[in-house]
Amino acid sequence: MKEDISMAERIKSPFRMDGIIVAKFGGSSLSNGEHFRKVKEIVKSDPKIKYVVPSAPGKRFEKDDKVTDLLYECYSASSAGKSIDDIFFSVTSRYDSIIQDLGIDLDLTEEYTHIKWAIMHHAGRDYAASRGEYLNGKILASFLGFDFIDPAPYIKFADDGLFESEITDSLLYNELKKHEHAVIPGFYGSMPNGTIKTFSRGGSDITGSIVARAVLASVYQNWTDVDGFLMADPRIIDNPKTISTITYKELRELSYMGAGVLHEESIFPVRTAGIPIVIKNTNRPEAEGTLIVSDVNAPETSNVITGIAGKKGFSVISIEKAMMNTETGFGRRVLEAIEKEDVNFEHLPSGIDTMSVVLSTDEISEKRDRILDRICSTVEPDTISIEDGLALIAVVGRGMVKAKGTALRVFKATADADVNIKMIDQGSSELNIIIGVDESDFVSAMNAIYREFEK
Ligand code: ASP
Repeated sequence: MKEDISMAERIKSPFRMDGIIVAKFGGSSLSNGEHFRKVKEIVKSDPKIKYVVPSAPGKRFEKDDKVTDLLYECYSASSAGKSIDDIFFSVTSRYDSIIQDLGIDLDLTEEYTHIKWAIMHHAGRDYAASRGEYLNGKILASFLGFDFIDPAPYIKFADDGLFESEITDSLLYNELKKHEHAVIPGFYGSMPNGTIKTFSRGGSDITGSIVARAVLASVYQNWTDVDGFLMADPRIIDNPKTISTITYKELRELSYMGAGVLHEESIFPVRTAGIPIVIKNTNRPEAEGTLIVSDVNAPETSNVITGIAGKKGFSVISIEKAMMNTETGFGRRVLEAIEKEDVNFEHLPSGIDTMSVVLSTDEISEKRDRILDRICSTVEPDTISIEDGLALIAVVGRGMVKAKGTALRVFKATADADVNIKMIDQGSSELNIIIGVDESDFVSAMNAIYREFEK
């Protein structure tokens, strides 16, 4: 790797053609010895995979525990002054059974003693949770014959808890360049005072992306237990197709509306550095997976729709006032009233004398009366009402810009399924069409739209 130059210069430089691959393996890909062996096969089969980011062991079967959940339980029990012996033993035996199964020469006894002591002596909730990745990283490094790098000194958070991107880029790059191959546990970093801080749940995806950015990898591989992103949620749609290429923007729209697989925040570090992400299946490495790229690198698509996603649990405040359109600042005052209650608004469909604000029902819960009162006193509407039970469906696709009649197809499909559309929202980017339907119509509307565009 080249010597110290700024991130901006490095992004522009041809150095990135080095072709390093960063591979992140999720908890479901590292839950037992058999999975570790599959991971090793994948890593050893491609010499470009130089840095590996593991999650903590996930569930081995439906009713199993995730190690991270057990560690949170340890923390809660210890904070309540209860013994953590039994739960902590469940954690250590998970690791010991993996070590035994792999037949590696690794003894984590001292680590266990230290971690248990630290949890019992107020090392904190994030510290407890982070040990899942830390210990798994130790095992994986030993099994692969890679160096182990504890991310705490290099992945940094500010005092307000926000991730420090620039400092991290440089600290991490300067450390990684000393290692030909390394395992860097996911999910955590540290605060300025050195205490451990984790990302939100599923955050090893973010670590993988941060590592990929630091070394300007040619690809960030994210290995999980599915073939890639599906066009729709398989719990709602039977057997949806896998998406072969999706743009960061499309992914953001779909993830926001509830499509899982990748942590939402993990696209930011790689996106600005122009590094593609590929989602792969550890159990079926031969499957093509889903490639996530920027708009400029996205191949032409003949698909109008890339995917659909939806969520229940929205409320709509409808405001009516004659001559609303002539009142300067009307919209701002409505939004200010909502902001004062510290609530985000989701959508804002409006007419000439009407304005609707879509909000998350959970988020407004006990604030709803106060929000309505504030709106009434600031804009004095003729009528105002609030209705719950709205589900939103986002139909997303970069192919929409070129295709005519997409909205027509969405509306026709829902009408044929006897579903009433209560709200429509399409941004001028033409990347998505969002419709609001009654929660009771959610599943039929999703199915009707999926089947229309699957063809
Ligand atoms: N182990 C953490 C969790 O369960 C982080 C991760 O798996 O990405 O949320």
